[in-house]
Amino acid sequence: MLENWVVVPTCLPVVLRRCHVCPSGRFRANGKFRVNANHKLLDAWLLVRCVACGDTAKLTILERVNVRSVRPRLLVRLHENDPALAAELLADPVVLRRNRVALDWEGAWRLSTGAPGHQDFRDVSVRFAARIPVRPVRLIAEGCGLSRAEVERLIEEGKVVSAVRLRGKVSGDFTFTLKRPQGGLHGPVFGGERRGEGGRRRCESHFHNVEGCESGFHNIRSRNTRKRP
Ligand SMILES: [Zn+2]
Repeated sequence: MLENWVVVPTCLPVVLRRCHVCPSGRFRANGKFRVNANHKLLDAWLLVRCVACGDTAKLTILERVNVRSVRPRLLVRLHENDPALAAELLADPVVLRRNRVALDWEGAWRLSTGAPGHQDFRDVSVRFAARIPVRPVRLIAEGCGLSRAEVERLIEEGKVVSAVRLRGKVSGDFTFTLKRPQGGLHGPVFGGERRGEGGRRRCESHFHNVEGCESGFHNIRSRNTRKRP
């Protein structure tokens, strides 16, 4: 039976760009926009704040666009500071390229897994609810309750099979098959449910509107003390 896992964003990713005030280089969007109309021309920006010094920067969304060519619904969402719109825009590669920013998704996602299926092998379909770059090795380790070293070993032994490169980063859906290791592994590899560590880790945002952000916990240290390479 095919199992379905989903990589789910839990809050907005950190926006990586240079801060003109401090050396931090990490910014958070909180869903605020600024819209400026000059006659019939419209500018709109997504506001982001430096997590270290609080300085505000603007990401260009619309630049001198004729107001008539802007969808009314988009205008409403900009004026209402729609947080879901901020998430959509940060997911847009065109917006990122235009503003020369990158995203850091660390601590801003979780892996949702269901009950494990077959006893002798696991056929898993992994879906990405947002374009979050993650190494499959990491997802498989989290979802199966293994260390990454154990997953690496299973890959070398040909017991994890996939069409994607399991050690490279992916942000699109893929499937893999995990064959039951000879002699068995202890731990929940063929049983039990685990929540991904992505969402468990510290979240710096105060963002509550994207897929149940847990950012109220932003001061809680990760329970996972294992060193990650
Ligand atoms: Zn700063």
